Amino acid sequence: MQDTTKHQGLRRQLIDLLREKGITSTRVLEVMSQVPRHFFMDPGLVNFAYVDQAFPIAADQTISQPYTVAFQTELLALKPEHKVLEIGTGSGYQTAVLLGLSPNIYTIERQQELFKKTQRLFSKLGLRPKRVIFGDGYKGLPEEAPFDRILVTAGAPELPKELLQQLTPNGKLVIPIGTKEQKMMRFTKTAEKIFDKESFGNFRFVPLLSNKN
Ligand code: SAH
Repeated sequence: MQDTTKHQGLRRQLIDLLREKGITSTRVLEVMSQVPRHFFMDPGLVNFAYVDQAFPIAADQTISQPYTVAFQTELLALKPEHKVLEIGTGSGYQTAVLLGLSPNIYTIERQQELFKKTQRLFSKLGLRPKRVIFGDGYKGLPEEAPFDRILVTAGAPELPKELLQQLTPNGKLVIPIGTKEQKMMRFTKTAEKIFDKESFGNFRFVPLLSNKN
């Protein structure tokens, strides 16, 4: 796979569009201008990599829309020293964007086919999350907690309380909540067992599933 000047040009146009749509973080836009989304797409869809839409990947899942990736990443307000958990590795595109902002990324995926495929892709591209885990992230990753940031990239039917418990003081959880459509929510831990709750518009995600359901 190659990242040609044509791809780079298309990516610049996409970044301009994200800016027009309201993404303001220069760090997020800069990192997204460097990550070749076409590396993370299904072979038959690479020509659409710089269209601002979600597309199918393996196991009936989707690679998130670039705007959604930018929006969620911006809400995380990531710093390089933050330890981050991503729930829903999927194509690995969002993981690659996170890795541009912090080296301490843990990512978990419950579809084995995707887990294997994306793990291979990471090594091929030289991307090194701290851990890529096959498993159910519905209840987070207690053995590695606490995290400064937790990002859920699938639609949660309700808030999994365990995720709040795995945040550091001042930690943030960004999670889309809802069934048919999701509200983007951000929870910030302001004191022991106290969370500030913010809501940011509607999005559509594939469902966050639990092995227990
Ligand atoms: N960040 C990904 C989004 C993929 S879609 C990308 O941009 O490509 C959401 C992913 O969450 C799917 O791959 C789905 O299998 C995964 N998922 C759903 N429920 C999960 C759970 N309980 N634990 C871990 N992953 C889950």
